[in-house]
Amino acid sequence: MADRSVGALIVGGGAAGAACVEALHEGGFGGGVLLVGREPDLPYERPPCSKTYLAGAQDRDACLFHDAAWYAKRSIELASRVSVMRLDTAERTATLSTKEVVEYGVALVATGANVRRLRVDGAQLGGIHYLRALGNADAIGADAASAEHVVLVGGSYIACEVAATLTTLGKRCTMVMLEDAPLAGHFGPTAGAFFGRLLRDHGVELVCGDGLERFEGEERVERVVCASGREVTADMVVMGTGAMPDVMLARAAKLELGERGGVACSADLETSARGVWAAGDMCEYESVLHGRRTRIEHHEVALAQGRAAAAAMLGTRRPFAEVPYFWTDLSDWATAEWVGLSEAPGQEIVRGSVDAGAFSVLHVADGRVVGALSVDRGDDLAHARRLIAERTPVAGREAELADGDLEAF
Ligand SMILES: Cc1cc2nc3c(=O)[nH]c(=O)nc-3n(C[C@H](O)[C@H](O)[C@H](O)COP(=O)(O)OP(=O)(O)OC[C@H]3O[C@@H](n4cnc5c(N)ncnc54)[C@H](O)[C@@H]3O)c2cc1C
Repeated sequence: MADRSVGALIVGGGAAGAACVEALHEGGFGGGVLLVGREPDLPYERPPCSKTYLAGAQDRDACLFHDAAWYAKRSIELASRVSVMRLDTAERTATLSTKEVVEYGVALVATGANVRRLRVDGAQLGGIHYLRALGNADAIGADAASAEHVVLVGGSYIACEVAATLTTLGKRCTMVMLEDAPLAGHFGPTAGAFFGRLLRDHGVELVCGDGLERFEGEERVERVVCASGREVTADMVVMGTGAMPDVMLARAAKLELGERGGVACSADLETSARGVWAAGDMCEYESVLHGRRTRIEHHEVALAQGRAAAAAMLGTRRPFAEVPYFWTDLSDWATAEWVGLSEAPGQEIVRGSVDAGAFSVLHVADGRVVGALSVDRGDDLAHARRLIAERTPVAGREAELADGDLEAF
C-alpha cells in the first residue's frame, strides 16, 4: 500500500530532472510533481564544477537552476538528500530512503552517471580526487590551496578544464593521458593539436600516449607512475577518467538496458516500462538522427531530453531529434563548441585559421557532415547543425566546405 500518490515522480535532481519538472509546470501538468534527488544541494548545473565554481568566480547559489522558493511557488515538491531505493513499475510505486512508498502516475528516471574509478595500486591514498558534484569541487579547491603541483589523469574535457582552472589559480599542472593530444579522442587530431598547444602555451605540462600505472606515497599521493615507467611528482591528483551511467535503480526495476550501458528507450525516450521515461546521461535512446541507439553525456542534451520527456508525459510524443551540442571552456583561454552525431571523428575539413585560434573543423563521413567543432566561429556551428539535421549531401564539395559560404549548402 502506498503512503501517498503523485502525478509525476522524477528520480534524480540533475539537469534532466530539473528541466523535466520545469517543463511539466510550464505545460500545465495537472497532478502533483515530486522530484527526488540524492544530493544535498537543490538541482544544479555541473559544468561550473570544473570551471567558474572551482575557480571561485561563481558561488554555489549561482549554480542552482532555481532557488527553493521557485519550486515552492509552483508547488513542485523537492526531496533532497533522499534516494529512490526501489521502483515497482507494475504497481507504479517507488520506495524512498525515508521508507515512504509513493504511488506515481508517470515517472522519469534521470539518475545520471557516476565517475569511472580506476582501481590501480595506491588508489586509496589521500589527495586523489574525482569530480562530479559541487562537493568534489569544494574538496579539490581546498586541497589545491596548499598544493603546488597537481597531476590530472585523462585527456578529456574534465582534465583539460581543471588543468586550465588550477593553472589560472597559480598551480603547476601536469596532464597524463593515453591520447596523443588533449581532446583528440572526441574532436580529432586538428582540435587535439590546437588544445595541446594552447595548454602548453599556458604552462600545462602534457604527458601524452602514456597510461596510469599506479600511485605512490605514504598516506597522501606523492608520485604518479606511468605505464612507461615515467614518474611525475604530485601534491594532489584529479582524475578525469570518464563516467558510467547510473543504472542501479533501473536494473533492479528490470528496465531493459542497452548496449551502451544506459537504459534502453524508444525514440521518444520511454523505457521498457509504460509510463516511465528516461533522460540524460543514462538514457540510451533509439535516435532517428543517428539511425541507431545512442547515449550522450552533454549538459544541453540532458536538458532537452528532460523537456522532451515532460512533453511526452503531457501527451505530445515525438522522436527526440535534437543535434547534440557540447561546449568546453578552458579558463578564459578558449571556448570550444561542438555539434555532432558522433564523437569518433570523420574526415576533417578546416575552416578559418587554427593558428589564429578562430577555426572550425567539420567532420565528414559517408558524404555528410556528422560533426563540427568550432572555436570562435559560432556561425559555422549553426550551419553545421543544419547540415547534420537535414542530412545534406556534401560529397565532392569539400573545397566549398572549407572556403565557401556554408549558407549555400
Ligand atoms: C565537472 C563536470 C563538468 C561538465 N561540463 C560540461 C560542459 O562544459 N558541457 C557539457 O555539455 N556537459 C558538461 N558536463 C556533463 C553534464 O554535466 C552532464 O551531461 C549532465 O549533468 C547530465 O545530467 P543528468 O541529469 O543526466 O545527470 P546528473 O547531473 O548526474 O544528475 C543525476 C542525479 O540523480 C541522482 N540520483 C541517482 N540515483 C538516484 C536515486 N536512486 N534516487 C535519487 N537520486 C538519484 C544523482 O545523485 C544525481 O544528482 C560536465 C560534467 C561534469 C561532472
